[in-house]
Amino acid sequence: MLDILIIGGGPIGLACGLAAQKAGLSFIIVEKGCLVNSLYNYPATMTFFSTSEKLEIGGVPFVTVHNKPTRNDALEYYRRVALSNNLPLNLFEEVTNVKAEGNGYIITTSKATYQARKVILSTGFYDIAVNLDIPGEDLPKVKHYYQDPHYYTSQKVVVVGSSNSAIDVALETYRKGAEVTLVVRGPEISNRVKYWVRPDIINRIKEGSIKAYFNSNLEAVREHEVDIQTPDGLLTIPNDFVMAMTGYKPNFNFLKKLGIILSEDKFIPQYNPETMETNLPGLYLAGVVCGGMDTHLWFIENSRIHADMILGDIVSKR
Ligand SMILES: Cc1cc2nc3c(=O)[nH]c(=O)nc-3n(C[C@H](O)[C@H](O)[C@H](O)COP(=O)(O)OP(=O)(O)OC[C@H]3O[C@@H](n4cnc5c(N)ncnc54)[C@H](O)[C@@H]3O)c2cc1C
Repeated sequence: MLDILIIGGGPIGLACGLAAQKAGLSFIIVEKGCLVNSLYNYPATMTFFSTSEKLEIGGVPFVTVHNKPTRNDALEYYRRVALSNNLPLNLFEEVTNVKAEGNGYIITTSKATYQARKVILSTGFYDIAVNLDIPGEDLPKVKHYYQDPHYYTSQKVVVVGSSNSAIDVALETYRKGAEVTLVVRGPEISNRVKYWVRPDIINRIKEGSIKAYFNSNLEAVREHEVDIQTPDGLLTIPNDFVMAMTGYKPNFNFLKKLGIILSEDKFIPQYNPETMETNLPGLYLAGVVCGGMDTHLWFIENSRIHADMILGDIVSKR
């Protein structure tokens, strides 16, 4: 029987692995995709808002030339940390169920069944997009994930949202020759947008390079046009692609299936904030999965400490 099975090979799952290794416990990290799968699926051009030292795990220095690392810098860093520490990684293996048995858990995956005394769930929130729930959302031209701006050259692109992801998409596709229309639910560009990017988008809107509708909602998507509800009434504009950058959420069905209690309003999982142990004894949450719908409150920056909190609790109970 393993001491610990860690679900999810993101930055925080790896941090938990390093802490388990330091404590001399047996463990594996089971990851349904590639190593740091969420980061791998971020936009190719993405720059973190955190400085590199705030993304470090296990005390391993993250050295970058520029203080804000890119996605590629982060992929290099986490891969080097994982491989140089020989972390036991089971990649492309999805955990499908976790069941309490005796004084541990039985974990079922797409490839095998394991037994572990403790389970750490660090499954993040990037796998499930928050839907718009509007007609036409299932058309292939509607995208919730974005890789690269080149694809959208000379296309009429509607970007929904005002978060960092939405603003990056709007600016990048505009600069590669797309005709960009931004649809924002609120009255202005979010204050959470990276401080060096916000003036850029505000000025592009002011000069008319990017068209923006505030206090507005995308109402319907059709093959060659979209409907936008604006304060001045319903507007129909020609359209090739919709980038619905409306956020992501943890896999609540999976958490519920395991028996983790979720709050009624924001689906925040129940856990002890000092140990990260859930209502299921010996099953812990680590990383951004613990935020429920409040995904904007959790980052690598402030959740990497979960690894030491959890391992501290596990070791103290042995
Ligand atoms: C675009 C973007 C930019 C961000 N920028 C920053 C930043 O600058 N600074 C910062 O601190 N934070 C940032 N964040 C937030 C946070 O850093 C990331 O969400 C980070 O990936 C969280 O790490 P994690 O290990 O908790 O989750 P993830 O990295 O999402 O890792 C979870 C892993 O679990 C795997 N998984 C899920 N379900 C299963 C299953 N059933 N079985 C096996 N594996 C499973 C997933 O494939 C994934 O690899 C950003 C987030 C986004 C989306």
